Amino acid sequence: MTFEELKITRQFLNAIDDCGYSAPSPIQEKAIPRISAGQDVIGIAQTGTGKTAAFALPVLQKVKYAQDLPPRALVLVPTKELAMQVYEVFITLAKYTDIRCIALYGGVGPKTQLEKLSNGVDIIIGTPGRFLDLYLRGGIVTKKIKTMVLDECDRMMDMGFMPQLRNILEVIPTKRQNLLFSATFPERVERLSEEFLLWPTKIEVSPQATPVASVKQLKTPVPNIRTKLHFVSYLLEEVYKEDRALVFVRTKEQAEQISKYLERTISGGVRGMHSNKAQNTRLHSMSLFREGAIRVLVSTDVASRGIDVPETKVVINCTVPTNSADYVHRIGRTGRAFREGVAHTLYDPSEKMYLSAIESHLPSKNEIIDSPMPDSIPIEETPPWEAKQMAKDIDYQKRKADPNYKGAFHEKKRKESGKSGDSRRRRK
Ligand code: AMP
Repeated sequence: MTFEELKITRQFLNAIDDCGYSAPSPIQEKAIPRISAGQDVIGIAQTGTGKTAAFALPVLQKVKYAQDLPPRALVLVPTKELAMQVYEVFITLAKYTDIRCIALYGGVGPKTQLEKLSNGVDIIIGTPGRFLDLYLRGGIVTKKIKTMVLDECDRMMDMGFMPQLRNILEVIPTKRQNLLFSATFPERVERLSEEFLLWPTKIEVSPQATPVASVKQLKTPVPNIRTKLHFVSYLLEEVYKEDRALVFVRTKEQAEQISKYLERTISGGVRGMHSNKAQNTRLHSMSLFREGAIRVLVSTDVASRGIDVPETKVVINCTVPTNSADYVHRIGRTGRAFREGVAHTLYDPSEKMYLSAIESHLPSKNEIIDSPMPDSIPIEETPPWEAKQMAKDIDYQKRKADPNYKGAFHEKKRKESGKSGDSRRRRK
């Protein structure tokens, strides 16, 4: 199929040509005709599938040209980074039109955004918080909004944006077209969709929570964090020494410490991305990474949203995510724009259960292949604090998996109370 067959008009075809897209991606093929026909659409598609253009093109076609002052389309996204990235897609595709787009996000003063809004915009791309903030300041006239897009809806729910979304739904016209995009379709997203979409058409490009097929997935058991660090350095220095890589960790402290460690041990430049870093620092790191000025980003799940760098060759999970949606999101950072990628997960004994749970959610064709640790990597001893942490984590997971599991702690208590019971009996 071609973009012409999707009835994309000339000025957008020219912009698509400039982007170098030769044919529509599957989500574009399926979503564009339905959105153009005015239907409410639920699109289940991961990042990297071309989903942004799948809604941007028909929305732009509907908006057509600059008109009046108030906006006519609203795209809501979970993070500032994603707002900027989606905004880029819109302005790139709108290049041969006079359509005015604006990105609204926090972390910067509202003045410039309010000024731009008062000069007239056609499409708003923003985070729910900033949109509401500017609306409450009287900076946004909502009555002309005819299309609303919720992008990365699952993530928006995870980040607790539900109350803001509800408020926004109350202040925009009820007669409008709704588009909902999400990488996964958990129950709470389904409930939200039932709340405000009208007879939606559901489009799925790949089964729910399926990593893109162009990503080769590997896993290696590693006893502790210090050995993991040796292994990560080895992968970055020996195996993927020329490649752009993302290293995922669980906490901001880990992101900070591990990026500092890698800065000392590997070449090519490393930066840490986590929510304690100022927005501008994060954006700067991301653009350095995009340009290839640095080779490695160490990131937490939240900070990684919106990283769209098609050259990312490898994703290393230095810690295993605790749910399969995060896993799919993480590894979706590679294999983007139809390139080959590798996702390598390192798991310690306490992460085995998390990984098994993730694997049970993946379709069989998406198998994670065992990849043994090379002999050259020194194996460190697990320090007592880490062993204790792991034991506690395993206990927690077992408790969650089985409500009847009493746990090591409980066992001990029972034994103790048993002892006192005995002594009571003896006293009798
Ligand atoms: P997205 O899923 O929107 O995050 O897009 C992921 C990447 O795919 C971006 O780098 C886009 O520029 C690229 N892309 C989008 N549509 C196409 C297409 N039809 N052909 C090739 N690349 C595309």
